[in-house]
Amino acid sequence: MKSTGVVIVGAGPVGLTAALSLTRAGIEVTVIEASTDLPEDLRASTFHPPTLDMLDALGVADSVVAQGLKCPQWQFRDRREGVIATFDLGLLAGETRHPYRLQCEQWKLTRILRDRLEAEAASEILYGVEAVDLTQDDTGVTLTIAGADGHRQDIRGRFLIGADGARSMVRKSVGVAFDGMTIPEIFLTVSTPFRFDRTIPELTNIAYISDPEEWVVLLRTPTLWRVLLPTDPNETEAEMMAPDRVEARLQAVCPKDGAYELIHKTAYRVHERVAAAYVHGRVFLAGDAAHLNNPLGGMGMNGGIHDAVNLSEKLTAVWHGAPLAGIGRYERQRRKVALETVQAQALRNRKILNERDPDARRAYHDELRRTVADETAHRAYVRRSSMLQSLRDLDQVA
Ligand SMILES: Cc1cc2nc3c(=O)[nH]c(=O)nc-3n(C[C@H](O)[C@H](O)[C@H](O)COP(=O)(O)OP(=O)(O)OC[C@H]3O[C@@H](n4cnc5c(N)ncnc54)[C@H](O)[C@@H]3O)c2cc1C
Repeated sequence: MKSTGVVIVGAGPVGLTAALSLTRAGIEVTVIEASTDLPEDLRASTFHPPTLDMLDALGVADSVVAQGLKCPQWQFRDRREGVIATFDLGLLAGETRHPYRLQCEQWKLTRILRDRLEAEAASEILYGVEAVDLTQDDTGVTLTIAGADGHRQDIRGRFLIGADGARSMVRKSVGVAFDGMTIPEIFLTVSTPFRFDRTIPELTNIAYISDPEEWVVLLRTPTLWRVLLPTDPNETEAEMMAPDRVEARLQAVCPKDGAYELIHKTAYRVHERVAAAYVHGRVFLAGDAAHLNNPLGGMGMNGGIHDAVNLSEKLTAVWHGAPLAGIGRYERQRRKVALETVQAQALRNRKILNERDPDARRAYHDELRRTVADETAHRAYVRRSSMLQSLRDLDQVA
């Protein structure tokens, strides 16, 4: 049977970050990936400042930054009133080496991480093999993997990390509940080369735009603008994706001559769930396998990378002789962040954007205007929304 130090299931941003962190700590790692190559789909596109600091510690931030768009400011807007508040991450200079959000597709990060891992003798990625079963005992974990031809083999590691995404086979294998809710509206994302910033006055590269009828989020990547819109779940997929329907919705966001050129469109269901446990003996969950939240605020991938770095630090200590029980602090710290910060903030962001009551909307807009006008409140706000505060608060968790 093949044996390794740590088996990681999933070569997404979380699995690969954990793999590089552990490899750099001198631990042999084998990553199991069901796809035959790294996916190049348009998913996360926002990197928050502390995530870039962590990637910097791994020596990959410069490459990611070079392929992205630095965005020191982002906005909360109203579809009719325009700019409500412009937030400035520059206020965090001195607290982070990267006082900006970076707009960069997540597949660029996974490619960079993969290239760095390939340069490390102590790690390997096995593609096109699916993790199908696992058992564990007092000394390690045995994972059964299956190739496309159905051929099965076992691989043994002292520990295993399930970074295998929302439908995590690892989470199901160890019987951990994944309670929470499914958000009623469908999220529609379309990408276009159209330059919204040349048409919508004072638009920053990231804008959350509220409206009593239909909110919209505009996010710029180096080559495209992404438009995120809530969609009625009673519409069939064919209806919501129909070219005329999508075109009419984009024209409502920003009227222009001629039809929008679309590069990509997708509609997906969004869940708010947190695993009941992140640690199960020698098996650990991280990233989407452990928590899911709506994309408003861009915290899913970022929180997952924070998990990977936290878990790798603790696992490295255990590897070098610290008690296994020390990993329990990983769960206590990161699960608390998932529940109390990420999920709470993502739900709040959705509630604010969905708010229809005119008085509540006005009160919230006034609160945002007051926040940006007061430097201390403004700095505290961007520290929270950039996830920096959630990392500082970890010290208080025993
Ligand atoms: C449209 C969209 C927009 C998003 N926007 C943002 C954003 O702006 N900011 C943000 O922070 N997050 C965003 N997210 C969320 C973000 O994409 C995820 O949080 C992130 O991909 C999670 O990374 P992961 O490594 O945990 O899981 P994944 O990226 O899902 O990777 C899991 C990997 O495991 C592999 N795998 C699964 N099962 C098995 C198995 N049994 N055996 C072997 N391999 C397996 C999969 O093939 C996959 O490669 C967005 C998501 C979507 C869908």
